[in-house]
Amino acid sequence: MPLTPAQALDERVSLELESVRAAGAYKTERVIGSTQGARVRLVDGRELVNLCANNYLGLANDTRLVEAAAEALRSHGLGLASARFICGTQDLHKTLETSVAEFLGTEDAVLYAAAFDANGGLFEPLLGEPDAVISDELNHASIIDGIRLCKARRWRYRHNDMADLERCLKEARQGGARSTLVFTDGVFSMDGTIAQLDRIKTLCDSHGALMGIDECHATGVLGPQGRGTHAHFGLVGQVDLITGTFGKALGGASGGFTACSYRVADLLRQRSRPYLFSNTLAPPIVGASLCALQMLREDGARVKRLAAHALRFRAALEGLGYTLKPGSPPIVPVMLGDEHMAKKLAARLLALGLYVVSFSHPVVPRGQARIRVQLSDAHSEADLQLAIAAFAQAGHELGIGASRVPQHIN
Ligand SMILES: *Cc1c(COP(=O)(O)O)cnc(C)c1O
Repeated sequence: MPLTPAQALDERVSLELESVRAAGAYKTERVIGSTQGARVRLVDGRELVNLCANNYLGLANDTRLVEAAAEALRSHGLGLASARFICGTQDLHKTLETSVAEFLGTEDAVLYAAAFDANGGLFEPLLGEPDAVISDELNHASIIDGIRLCKARRWRYRHNDMADLERCLKEARQGGARSTLVFTDGVFSMDGTIAQLDRIKTLCDSHGALMGIDECHATGVLGPQGRGTHAHFGLVGQVDLITGTFGKALGGASGGFTACSYRVADLLRQRSRPYLFSNTLAPPIVGASLCALQMLREDGARVKRLAAHALRFRAALEGLGYTLKPGSPPIVPVMLGDEHMAKKLAARLLALGLYVVSFSHPVVPRGQARIRVQLSDAHSEADLQLAIAAFAQAGHELGIGASRVPQHIN
């Protein structure tokens, strides 16, 4: 009997899944039975120190934020059942847009259901065939997809390589580009690399290009009061486009934004498809995000404590002989190189009470397998001590660390 269309699809999907497994890229999901926090409880009852969330400021279960969300829920309801331009804009949404713009030093900001959508809807309305867009090769998937949707000519430069960026700028200029936009992650999540915004800015200026950054791993983390990569480099007011998320340091729920000039915001509200054809951000998330920005403005102590925590953890691991990549302090890539070793170490650390994940090819280049540790302001002294002790023990058992000759990685 011939296969039904559904059976034929299942068969093809099974083959695809097998090839994902064969590539060692199959992802499984551990199920958490608690809130997101410095420690999490899995549904099987195990409690682990969580070292793999983007919950940099520990706001995901912060009482003040949860209360702000509940208050917005009571005063503004569950949601708007509409896109913004039909009947989905409340006072809270306008307040949050103003607040994001003020925090980042731009004229205006536009809210999206996710940063993925902010990036997905950014390039197509602004850049057409006469324009050029130049992108770091390690930019986030949502930037890559957003760029694919626009008709501008595209260039990709080698990760963080300023000479290669300059080559692209020259080529775009020689090609007669009308507008040229250089776009980069502010902080790259896998490596913790901080984009060299000062040098990128100089290059953009000398080639008449615009500069845009994705601040998902930088807002709430880098710069004074966590205002971001541009603030870290003293470039507030000098970046043309900033995209970011409410789903990481700023509370960990969801939602994103593009911060930009009044005019650009105006056009995005007219033309950006994920904005036009998707539901309004839910009021509880808006309330919580407003509260998160307020907390950062009032008190930069969390951001400073996070950096101090991270530096202490980095120093401890280096002291144990681990090889780390330098970069944004709370992202600590522990480099193992060998994929099996990275998997073994992650499994051992899990048994010792740490929630960590190993990353190997194709998520990171071959031979650069790693465990990416992410620190949070919410981690207590006891959490850090437990984490460091576990790395010491597992490293000793597996012969990693002091016994190994440290290799230098850029
Ligand atoms: C997480 C992330 C996104 C997506 O953010 P969401 O709000 O979860 O959609 C986009 N860009 C970068 C660089 C990210 O790290």
